[in-house]
Amino acid sequence: MNIGRIKLGVAAVGACKAILDRSVKYSNERKQFGKSISNYGAIKHKLAECAAHTYASEAAHYRAGQNIDDAYDALVAGGEEPAQARLKSVEQFAIECAILKVHGSETLDFVVDEGVQIYGGMGYSTEAPMDRAYRDARINRIFEGTNEINRMLVLDMMLKRGMKGELDLMGPAQQVASDLMAIPDFGNETDDTFFYQEKKVLSNMKKAALMIAGAAVQKFMMKLSEEQEILMHLADMLIQIYAAESSVLRTEKLVVTRGQEQCKNQIDLSRIYLYFALDQVYLAGKQAIYAFAEGDELRMMLLGLKRYTKAEPFNLKEARRNVANAMIGENHYMY
Ligand SMILES: Cc1cc2nc3c(=O)[nH]c(=O)nc-3n(C[C@H](O)[C@H](O)[C@H](O)COP(=O)(O)OP(=O)(O)OC[C@H]3O[C@@H](n4cnc5c(N)ncnc54)[C@H](O)[C@@H]3O)c2cc1C
Repeated sequence: MNIGRIKLGVAAVGACKAILDRSVKYSNERKQFGKSISNYGAIKHKLAECAAHTYASEAAHYRAGQNIDDAYDALVAGGEEPAQARLKSVEQFAIECAILKVHGSETLDFVVDEGVQIYGGMGYSTEAPMDRAYRDARINRIFEGTNEINRMLVLDMMLKRGMKGELDLMGPAQQVASDLMAIPDFGNETDDTFFYQEKKVLSNMKKAALMIAGAAVQKFMMKLSEEQEILMHLADMLIQIYAAESSVLRTEKLVVTRGQEQCKNQIDLSRIYLYFALDQVYLAGKQAIYAFAEGDELRMMLLGLKRYTKAEPFNLKEARRNVANAMIGENHYMY
């Protein structure tokens, strides 16, 4: 099922790209109030958000795919039979496979829903392509383990690995808890390194997830599996962090080969997604904290969450316009 999950996720990314391509073309074709609807900011916003989500999901799939290939090569080099190496390499990234299944299928639902909206009344008609895409997309959240089951698996597998000593979760969680007691970082330091701020935001989001997961484990111990609502919120945080980080790493790699000037749109795409993920992490984190903390602990954790989900102001509207205008100009999705 791990292989099925990453394959489902990447197929969903392919569908996102095809749908977005059609959405761009239709928005150029369709004229309302005397001009193409692609001229309107509301449509540009949709196209850019769909592109940022698709770019992030694709980045996450490439990242895990490469990790699996590298693990396979290492196992074969160590004398493992190829068939066994194939299974073991995917097993090592079973958490990522569950994350990708959820992210790919939910990105597709988002992109196809916006596709229907961009097509307007024609989006609802069987004569246009979005009607079929809308129905076809929907099954992906159900098969290969429903997205609820996959969200729970993400946490279940992580906690089991933590208990077996394969993954140190409690060490970093305790470190974050003690950092919280220290003098806060007011975020004034600057560094010219490319994506310095973005990486700091990512590192802080991880701290937020560790802080809440660590406190939830301490509170519920073995009974955490009965707190599905909290597990769902934690899974949402992890899924968003993984996707946002993958997007940033993908762009960073592109910048190394092509230079910043050639990657302006990809830089914007990564930032747009990062700010989306940051808001999601804050919302999910807040709801998780409300679900189990009380009194001083609750206040402390909310302060910590605020501290760890802070970012410099960024003009998302301009970034969205830039990436949308490039697609509109080219008349297709090309990131
Ligand atoms: C078009 C299509 C093709 C399919 N192809 C295949 C295939 O090729 N091979 C195959 O093996 N299967 C296939 N399936 C089956 C598919 O995997 C299942 O439908 C899916 O796993 C959900 O199971 P279910 O339908 O029994 O729903 P249920 O398990 O009844 O789930 C209903 C709801 O309850 C939730 N839920 C269930 N258990 C829990 C729990 N423990 N905690 C919290 N929430 C829970 C689910 O998330 C869901 O929201 C296919 C299904 C469809 C519709």
